[in-house]
Parts: sequence; structure tokens; C-alpha cells
Amino acid sequence: MPKQYDFLVVGAGPFGATFAYEAHQRGKKVLVIDKRDHIAGNLYTKKMENIDVHYYGAHIFHTSNKHVWDYVHQFATFNHYVNAPVANYHGEIYNLPFNMNTFNKLWGVITPQEAKAKIAEQQSASTTAPTNLEEAAIAMVGKDIYFKLIKGYTEKQWGRSATELPPFIIKRLPVRFTYDNNYFNDPYQGIPKGGYTQIVEKMLAGIDLQLNTDFFDNRAYFESIAEKILYTGAIDEFYQYQFGVLEYRSLRFEHEVHQTDNYQGNAVVNYTDSETPYTRILEHKHFEFGTQPTTVISKEYSVAWKKGDERYYPINDEKNNAMFAQYKALANQEKQYVFGGRLADYKYYDTHHVIANALILVDTLFKKQ
Ligand code: FAD
Repeated sequence: MPKQYDFLVVGAGPFGATFAYEAHQRGKKVLVIDKRDHIAGNLYTKKMENIDVHYYGAHIFHTSNKHVWDYVHQFATFNHYVNAPVANYHGEIYNLPFNMNTFNKLWGVITPQEAKAKIAEQQSASTTAPTNLEEAAIAMVGKDIYFKLIKGYTEKQWGRSATELPPFIIKRLPVRFTYDNNYFNDPYQGIPKGGYTQIVEKMLAGIDLQLNTDFFDNRAYFESIAEKILYTGAIDEFYQYQFGVLEYRSLRFEHEVHQTDNYQGNAVVNYTDSETPYTRILEHKHFEFGTQPTTVISKEYSVAWKKGDERYYPINDEKNNAMFAQYKALANQEKQYVFGGRLADYKYYDTHHVIANALILVDTLFKKQ
């Protein structure tokens, strides 16, 4: 007897939703479950004060994949937002990423040649074989940028002193010798007008959905009702942590409503000093050029992660990657299951990556059938 559903999708984030949408379009019977009380995973935007609040951190859609860019336009109209964060170091404001505006503010230099000479001068005093992040950063961009714009922020992010962090964490620090504050290099960038949640809502229209439903509370039942299961949750949890717990860094957000129409004049402000306890403040209305009378801000704190906390950034060091490889080897043997998304792949992905990956999975699965 055929089962009630062709597919169970565990996780209503962008990976699960893209897959569910495509399967549904192909006439498959799909059930989507999520343990949270809302859809859209970490992409979720919540309406507060008539503002789309990026509930799990700033999400700027950017990609160089034209196919994915066209694909998401089925579900939303995107505005012309360009991410241009600023850094606040003890009240001094600098443009990010490091570019001619930053160098002009730091040193008064006007031309790219002057800026390059200034950086070279500071690099020349640095070590050639860095043994920690501090030495590596100074070797790349010199002391001034390091002490004002990198040190405090990075130490808050990792919860450790930069001299105790390995140099490989910053493989590359992009330095731009043009007056260009656009954070991303991708040709396509924007924010969906009306937030991200509506995209996932449209993807899931007409598909059975159960929120507040943890797959592991009823695993045997779910296996009995679906021919195949797409699992987008954490891979170590799926295998009862038999090889150990994969580590993450976590975040904590304090969302606040303020009775002003403009709190900080920019969507993202990074606090790069060591004393301010949070790493960033987001002011959500600026993602959509909002003109509401009030505003919502989120203070973002970088915090240690322990099992049970929200997973944000995977710690892809050798130990964790080796452990992941063991889980992956088991996952490759599964017959009823397919896996995808940031938690099952133990990888940091941007949203365009997970959408592209979900579309590839759809292609491979449905070609086989
Ligand atoms: P998720 O969105 O995490 O969805 C997985 C879902 O599965 C969750 O809803 C979860 O509740 C559910 N789930 C897990 N386990 C179970 C279970 N046992 N039972 C039921 N449900 C379960 N991307 C960009 O493109 N631009 C950005 O600017 C950007 N900024 C980011 C900023 C931050 C701070 C972070 C952390 C990420 C950012 N991203 C950004 C990345 C983006 O959030 C991810 O690419 C995207 O959310 C991954 O989608 P996903 O479906 O794989 O996972």
C-alpha cells in the first residue's frame, strides 16, 4: 500500500520550502513539519510595528547566480538595498568593507597610492610567519585597521583573545582601493519588499504543514507515513550524537522598539570596540527604506554554544569536520532519507546556496523517478 505522503520535509527553512514547492509542483503529496512556531527557518522576518524584523539576524539576499535570482522573483519583488554597514569604534564612524572612505577617515589619504603606501608602511613592521590571528591581521592590513576595526569585533565574535585565535580564521581581509561601500561583490542584491516570510508562505501554499512539531518526538510515525524524508535538521542529532556533538557559535538578539523614526541612520552598525558587549545593532526599517513613525532595533550578541542552544555558525575546524565526515558516511547509506541545508551539511551557507542546492536535489531525485 502506498504511504500517505510521497515526501515528508523536516524543516520549513528555505531549503525545505524550495524542495517542498518543487515536489508539490510535480504533483507529489508533501507534508512539511517544523519544530518552531513559524516557517522560514533563520530567514524568518516577523512584523513588529509594521516593520519586517530580521528575527535571526540581518539577511541580505545576494548572489551571482542569475538562475537563483530569477527563481526567487517568482515569490517577491526585491528592492535596491545595497549592504553598506558602518563601524562604530568609540564613537568614530568608519565605512565597511575597508575601502577608500575608510582610509580617508583613518589617515586623511586621498588617493589609492597614498592608502597603499600607508598600509605597506604598517605591514612592513609585522611578522612574516604569523602564529595567531592578531599577527595575521596586522600582516594583511596593518596596525591601525586591526586595532580599531578588527580586534574588538573578532574577540567578541569568538569569545577569545585574538592572540589565542589561530591565524587561519581570517584567510583574507578584503581591502578595496575604490570609494565603494557595497559590502558584497555579487551582481544581484536586494531585500524582498514585505520581508522573507512571505516567500516561504507562497512556496508552501497548498502543502500540508505542521508547526511546533519535532521530528524526533514521533520519528517512527513519520517514517511510516512518508515514502521519502528530506531532513534539514542537525546531522549529529539525527544519529543521536554517536560520534560526538558538532560545535557551533551561537547568537543572542535583543529586539527593542524605540519611539523614534530613525535610531541609527543605517541598517547595520558594527561595534568594533571591546567594551560594547554586542557586536552589531540592526535597525530593520532601513532594509526596506521604511518611513514608519517608530523603529525596531536588534542588538546582536555573539555567545558560546552548548547542546540545546540555537545553532548559528558551524566551527569547521579539523576535529569537527572529521566528525561530520563520519556522520556523512552514515547518511550516504540511507535509503528512505535525503539530507540538505546548513544543519545537515554542517556548513555555513547563504540563502542563495541553499536554494541552488535544493534545486539540484530536485533535479537529481526527479530525474531518477
Ligand atoms: P534553516 O533556515 O536553519 O531551517 C532549518 C529548519 O529546520 C528550522 O526552521 C528548524 O526549526 C527546522 N528543524 C531542525 N530540526 C528539526 C526537527 N528535529 N524537527 C522539526 N524541524 C526541525 N544568508 C544570506 O543569504 N544573506 C545574509 O545576509 C545572511 N545573513 C545571515 C546572518 C546570520 C546571523 C546567520 C546565522 C545566517 C545568515 N544567512 C544569510 C544564512 C541563512 O540564514 C541560511 O542560509 C538559511 O537559513 C539556511 O536555510 P536552511 O533551510 O538550510 O536552514
